[in-house]
Amino acid sequence: MPAVVGIVNCRNYELAEVEQAVERLITSLGGWQAFVRPGQTVLLKPNMIGPRPPEQAATTHPAVVQVIATKLREIGCTVWIGDSAGGAIGGIAPTAQALKVCGFEAAAQAAGAEIKSFDASGVVEVTSKFFDFKPKYHLAAPVFQADVVINLPKLKTHSAAIYTGALKNLFGLVPGLGKAEFHRQAPTNELFAEVIADINRNTPITLTIMDAVVGMEGAGPTAGDPREVGLLLASTDRVALDAVACRLIGLDPAVVPIVQTAYERGLGELAAANITFTGDYAEQPVVHGYRLPAGKKRSNPKVAKFMLNTVVNLFKTRPQVNQERCRKCDICVENCPVEAIDPQSKLIDYSVCIECLCCHELCPHGCVDLVRQNKLANALMGLARRMHK
Ligand code: SF4
Ligand code: SF4
Repeated sequence: MPAVVGIVNCRNYELAEVEQAVERLITSLGGWQAFVRPGQTVLLKPNMIGPRPPEQAATTHPAVVQVIATKLREIGCTVWIGDSAGGAIGGIAPTAQALKVCGFEAAAQAAGAEIKSFDASGVVEVTSKFFDFKPKYHLAAPVFQADVVINLPKLKTHSAAIYTGALKNLFGLVPGLGKAEFHRQAPTNELFAEVIADINRNTPITLTIMDAVVGMEGAGPTAGDPREVGLLLASTDRVALDAVACRLIGLDPAVVPIVQTAYERGLGELAAANITFTGDYAEQPVVHGYRLPAGKKRSNPKVAKFMLNTVVNLFKTRPQVNQERCRKCDICVENCPVEAIDPQSKLIDYSVCIECLCCHELCPHGCVDLVRQNKLANALMGLARRMHK
């Protein structure tokens, strides 16, 4: 059976526009009755990476959350909206602050839904299968208490993981500071991809609806730039949805460790030939010129691994605090899982740094730059820029 991905146009975040788009999208997948029944409790899990206002495009837009919550309330469901923010401020995850700043509290109020902070809603212990450094771990209890879970990711690039969407959005089910601990224990992209695959394996998700009305390009998941895409995507297959979203932004999903690993672990479909489309599109749409994070490659080159490693190392970037712009808030220091950032000077000890890029991701002022170290690579990039002028 091929996987089905629905894609519809949605020009902006006005409620009427989003409402019509969501209805077209869900109708194309069989209608709401294919997913929910009156009387059920439905958990909506948006991307709430931190206290970021919607216009930054780092989080799922509250209009998408509100429209879906309102529809589910009309059907007769109890609706929960829940997540746990990334990072820590003053030693605690900024979930309460993020629920306000991201607009989810207001969306819940408007729709008659209930907010669930995953840092204060209890946990369920699950076992790991795809990694061995932790035989058991905990995920937020509401995801197991709800009858139906709808995953609501945002289309974004990611400086460490290249791309973040449906699969990676479930990392928010790890409450509070447990996320930093996972980053410390799974310091490579490959091992972290196994963590994400395992969380997805352990999690009963009925449907994923992706907000790609305005995505984030460049240095995502928080320091990139908003990019108008004008689409909503949905599928019951998270791997297929991520594969389609990657191709949408001109990226081969096979080079994204989280997507490729989930596919290899049997969590969904990746091959374009095995994915069909419904909604406003009969075939794969593509947004041209979508900017990837610095140093990330679009395609899976058929070159020897040695050559690939050489090129990757040549253009590799690493985090560096911009001393002129830094406001000394210490959020990067608090959130570094291996204590690699000096609290006074904010200099990074690269012999300790595991390149998780949490500092880059969580700095609220965009002051952790990704800097290319190789002088030859810098000269080549400078030359390329001059030639394109
Ligand atoms: S780099 Fe960013 S997070 Fe770190 S202290 Fe400076 S402003 Fe705060
Ligand atoms: S310095 Fe930044 S990239 Fe390096 S380990 Fe710490 S948080 Fe991760």
